[in-house]
Amino acid sequence: MKKILIANWKMKLFEKQSLDLTKKIKKKKFSKIEIVLAPSFPYLSAVKKLLAKTTIKLAAQNSAAQTLGALTGEVAAEMIKDIGCSYAIVGHSERRQNLFETDQLINEKIKRLFEQKITPILCVGETLEQKKNGRRNQVLVQQLKNCLSKIAVLEKENLVLAYEPVWAIGSGNVVDVAELEAVWGILKHAISMLVSENYFENNVRFIYGGSVDEKNIEQFSALPFVHGFLVGGASLSADKFLTMAEILNRS
Ligand code: PEP
Repeated sequence: MKKILIANWKMKLFEKQSLDLTKKIKKKKFSKIEIVLAPSFPYLSAVKKLLAKTTIKLAAQNSAAQTLGALTGEVAAEMIKDIGCSYAIVGHSERRQNLFETDQLINEKIKRLFEQKITPILCVGETLEQKKNGRRNQVLVQQLKNCLSKIAVLEKENLVLAYEPVWAIGSGNVVDVAELEAVWGILKHAISMLVSENYFENNVRFIYGGSVDEKNIEQFSALPFVHGFLVGGASLSADKFLTMAEILNRS
């Protein structure tokens, strides 16, 4: 599986800004990595049109836990598939914290995504308080187990597993390399117990997110166990994002 660089534009760009950024990003080609753009829902189709004849993939920033039906304001995995998304972000800490999303809800979202053959980008991460209290490992394993529990098809599906420490997101602080390796080991063990080590090796891309930018990416992209990045702030600048893509592409 190729390394992956995901731009999460959150709720920050209007249509024109999303399209301008897409046009700049698609000018450069990267043979060794996969580039994924996650615009806001209203602009997914417009961005998708610009991505025709490119290898850049599209991600939704969220997906409903329910199938098509009477649920005002939600967007079903079937619709996300219909628009042409290959991925959907689930479990982002901004939704866990501000919209009170639970692991159980995220688990249902993942099931709906697998039904549509959309790869989930599952975010897990501890808060600063949990980290300070020495609860990081426990929190991460619990989130992972809850979010992936009772998914019969899991072993046949691919997963992007994003370690996103809440304290690192948008803060300018990144995890240190030793910590990241420790987290990778813990999550690898948890997934190996849940499915198998083989599954982790072949179907899971372990990525990092949290204040990664063009200046600090190199220390992480060189690590053999890091399969890519989920990028917020730095993905809003074509120059920064493309520099990151270049670095990851040659790593
Ligand atoms: C994110 O929100 O997923 C993220 C990684 O944001 P930032 O890069 O801005 O920390």
